[in-house]
Amino acid sequence: MQTHILGFPRIGKKRELKQALESFWKGTLSTQAFIATSMELKKRHWEIQESAGLDYVTTGDFSLYDQMLDTTLMLGAVPPRFSKYSGDSPLDLYFNMARGDAKHNIPALEMTKWFDTNYHYLVPEIDANGPWVAGIHPVVADTRLARKLGYSPKPVLIGPFTWLALAKAQGSSLKWSRLDAIVSAYASLLGTLSAHCDYIQIDEPVLCTDLLPEEARKHFHSAYAALNADYGKSRLLLATYFGPLGRNLELAVNSGCAALHVDLVRGKRQLEAILPLLPAETALSLGVVDGRNIWKTDFSKIVPGINQAVAALGSERVLLASSCSLLHCPVDTAEESALPDHIKKRMAFAVQKCFELTSLRKIVEQNDPSVLAENVAVLRNSVAHPHTSIAAVRERSSSVTPAMFTRLSPYPQRREKQHWLNLPELPTTTIGSFPQTASIRKTRLDYKQGDMSEANYIAAIRHEIRDCIEKQEALGLDVFVHGEAERNDMVEYFGQQLGGFCFTQNGWVQSYGSRCVKPPVIYGDVYRKAPMTVDWILYAQSLTVKPVKGMLTGPVTILCWSFVRDDMARSEVCKQIALAIRDEVQDLEKAGVRIIQIDEAALREGMPLTAQEAEIYLKWAVDAFRLSSSGVKDSTQIHTHMCYSEFNAILPWIARMDADVISIESSRSGMELLDAFTDFRYQGAVGPGVYDIHSPRISSVEEMTELLRRALRHIPKEQLWVNPDCGLKTRQWEEAYPTLENMVSAAKRLRGE
Ligand code: GLN
Ligand code: ZN
Repeated sequence: MQTHILGFPRIGKKRELKQALESFWKGTLSTQAFIATSMELKKRHWEIQESAGLDYVTTGDFSLYDQMLDTTLMLGAVPPRFSKYSGDSPLDLYFNMARGDAKHNIPALEMTKWFDTNYHYLVPEIDANGPWVAGIHPVVADTRLARKLGYSPKPVLIGPFTWLALAKAQGSSLKWSRLDAIVSAYASLLGTLSAHCDYIQIDEPVLCTDLLPEEARKHFHSAYAALNADYGKSRLLLATYFGPLGRNLELAVNSGCAALHVDLVRGKRQLEAILPLLPAETALSLGVVDGRNIWKTDFSKIVPGINQAVAALGSERVLLASSCSLLHCPVDTAEESALPDHIKKRMAFAVQKCFELTSLRKIVEQNDPSVLAENVAVLRNSVAHPHTSIAAVRERSSSVTPAMFTRLSPYPQRREKQHWLNLPELPTTTIGSFPQTASIRKTRLDYKQGDMSEANYIAAIRHEIRDCIEKQEALGLDVFVHGEAERNDMVEYFGQQLGGFCFTQNGWVQSYGSRCVKPPVIYGDVYRKAPMTVDWILYAQSLTVKPVKGMLTGPVTILCWSFVRDDMARSEVCKQIALAIRDEVQDLEKAGVRIIQIDEAALREGMPLTAQEAEIYLKWAVDAFRLSSSGVKDSTQIHTHMCYSEFNAILPWIARMDADVISIESSRSGMELLDAFTDFRYQGAVGPGVYDIHSPRISSVEEMTELLRRALRHIPKEQLWVNPDCGLKTRQWEEAYPTLENMVSAAKRLRGE
C-alpha cells in the first residue's frame, strides 16, 4: 500500500509565508529573499512528508497566493483589464490579479469561499475574448526540484472541470465552450510533468457537488480520455473530496485515470458502492485521515474499511491518504505548549496527520496490534476526561422538550405585544459593532497581557460604550447597540467564556493570501459558566431611554467558525451551544433588555454541498437557532442578522427561524434578494442592508432613499427596517458617522413622504 497526502499547508508553522508576503508587498523584502523563503517552506514540507515515510511528496500544492490563480495563469485566462499594465515582472501581474492594481485603479479578481471551507480562492473570469496564451505553472519547476533533491514527487493540479465550474462567465454555454481549449492546455502540461513522476493528482472536488451542469457532465469522459491519452500510460490520480461522489460516481469511476481518490471522511459509505465498480487496474486512494479537522484519527473506525479495500483490490492497488488537502488544518502540534495534556494528546495537525498515514499502513500491513491499541487508549482516555464529558450537560440536552423550540405565540400576536417598544415606522438601527479604534484595540491587548487591571479595563470599555451611545443619540437612531468594543471577534468572545472551548497558540489556517484565522477549538461538552454579556448591555441601557439591543452570536455561527470535536455529531454540539445561548437570552430579558439580536452570520456558509445533505443540516441548524431564541416572552423582540444575499432558495428555512426581525446583507447585490420576498410571503420584519460596510465610500441620502424605495415595492412599510449591511468594526468613524447620518435622513425623508 502506498501513502500520500493531497496537499500540505503552505503558510508555514510560524506563518512565515504571511510575513514574507507582507514584507514583500511593503517593499522591505527583496524579490530574491521572498522567493528564497517560499523555497525554504516547500523544501521543509517535502522533508516532513518524506520523514513521515509517505511514498510521495506533493508538489504544486504550494502557492504564493492561491492555487486557483496559479491555474488561471497557466491557462492564460488573464482578463483584459490586467494585460494592459502587466508590470515589470510576472509577479506584478500575479499580485495585481490577486490584490488589484491600486496605481491604475484596476480591481482584483473576485474572491469567494472554496466549496464549504473557510479558504477563499480568486474567481476566474471568462469573457468572449480569446484565445488565451497559456502561461507556466509553478508545479513544473517545483516537481523538477523535488526530483533533483531525491524525492518522489506527485504533482497536483486543479482539474479543468472544477476550474471551469468555479469560473464566472456570462452564460454557462460560453463557459463550457472553452472546455476543449482548456483540455489541450492541460494535456501539454501533463506531458511535461509525466516524465518526472508516477502519479499526477488532478483535483476535481466539483464531482462531489451539484455544480456540474449536464452540458459539462456529458463531456467528462471525452475530456478525460484526451487527458489520459496524450502520453504513454495514464498517470492521473483523479482526486474527489469534500463529500461523497453521489450522482457523479459513474463519471469518476470510469474516467480512465490510473487512480481514483475518494473522501471516506465525508463520504463514509461510498466505499461499498465503489469497490465493485472500479475497473481492473485502477488504483483506489482512500481518504481516511480528515484534512479538515485537528483531531487524531480513530484508527479502529477505519481499519475495517481499509482491510475491505485491500481484500477486494489487493494491496498494490490501494493508497492511503488524507481526505482532502491538509491546507485546511494547522501545521504542527509541537508548536502548542499551553494546551492541557488531555486535549493536546487528542490532536493531530498536518505534520501529525502525515505520520498517521504511515501508522495506518503499519497496522494493516504488519498486523501490528500495538499501534492500534495505543491509538484506542489515547482517544478513549481523553474523550472520557471529566472536563470533556459532563453528565449534567448531556442530561440537559437530552431532556429538551419540543415546546422549547417554539415561541409562546405566533408572529402576528407577538407583533402586537411588541408595540410597547414604541418604534417609528422604518426604524433605524445598526448591526452591532462600531469602529474598533486603535485605543480600543490597545485596551483589550493591555488587559489580555496583564498590563491593565480589571477595574481599569471595565472603566475603559465603559468609556467606549458611553461614547458610542452618545453618538447614536446624536445621530437619532431608533434602536441602539453597545458597540462591541469588548469583543475581538464575535465567536472568540463567547468561546473564551464557555466551557468546552480552548484556544491554540499557533493553530493558524490560511483564509486567503496572507490572511490566516485561528479558530477556537470545541473539545468538550459546551456549557455557560456565567452571564457573558449582561453587564455591558445593562450599562449601555442605563445611559439612554432608547432600547439597546442585547447582542449575541448564534449557535450555528459559533459552531461553523470553530474546530469541532469529532466524537459527537455536529448537530448535538450545536444543541449544547444553543442551550448556553438560550440561558444568556433569558438572563438578558430578566435584566430588562427588550430587544435581543442573535447573529447567524455563518448559517448559509455552513451548508453542505449537495441538496440532500443541505436539507438535513438546515433542519438542525434552524432548530438550534430556535432553541436559543424561543425562551422569551412575546413582548421581547428577537432579531437575527445574516451576512450574505443569495438565500432565495433557503428563504423558507429563514422564515422557520421565526425571528421577529432579520437584517441581511444586500446593497452589494443591488437588493437582488428582494425578489425572494416577492415570491415568498415573509411574515416578520426585514432590514435589507442599505449600504456596503466593506467600502469606505460614503453613501448619499439619495442613494439610500432610492434603495429603500425599491425595498418598499417588495416589503410592506410596516415590515421594513433601515440598517447597514453588517457591523462597522472595520470602518473609521470618519466614514461611519456621516454615512449613518445619511441613512437616518433617508429614513426620515421616506417617513415624511
Ligand atoms: N454583530 C456583529 C457585528 O456587528 C455581526 C458581524 C457579522 O455579521 N459578521 O460586528
Ligand atoms: Zn454581517
